[in-house]
Amino acid sequence: MMKTIDTPQLTQHQSSASAMLIASGVRATSARCQVLAVLLDARRALSHLEVQMALPDLDRVTLYRALDCLYDAGITHKIPGDDRVFRYSTGHEPSSVSTVSKNQHAHGHFKCTRCTRVFCLDDAQHPDSPNQLWQASLQSALGAGFLSHEIELTIKGWCADCAH
Ligand SMILES: [Zn+2]
Ligand SMILES: [Zn+2]
Repeated sequence: MMKTIDTPQLTQHQSSASAMLIASGVRATSARCQVLAVLLDARRALSHLEVQMALPDLDRVTLYRALDCLYDAGITHKIPGDDRVFRYSTGHEPSSVSTVSKNQHAHGHFKCTRCTRVFCLDDAQHPDSPNQLWQASLQSALGAGFLSHEIELTIKGWCADCAH
């Protein structure tokens, strides 16, 4: 029942993971690299349990510490779920775009009400467009003086897997 994480894609994510850790001034330990590689590979937000399932050999406490470290370093953000479980995501916004908050939370989230999976509504191709859109709609609704610095938008519905 040993799950291997030696897929080419995860290996590739592991090298970008260690580069991201070093760029954030954090020591690139093997646990942090593995956890970050799993999050980079997931393309959605993962709970502690889901990361644990992907890395069954990683000690529980080490995993908690690695997730905390990634969050403290501003590499990931966490999204509270309706089930009171936090899910972690790297998001896809380059950190230079995210001048508003350390943990890149200037985007909304999609929550599937059937499978409870959480996805980041950030668009790598157009990282600025949702922010500009919401800033424009804020000012047209409330006035030019209003300035957003954090967006907490949640769209609920069915994900592509659950919708059919
Ligand atoms: Zn779903
Ligand atoms: Zn997100």
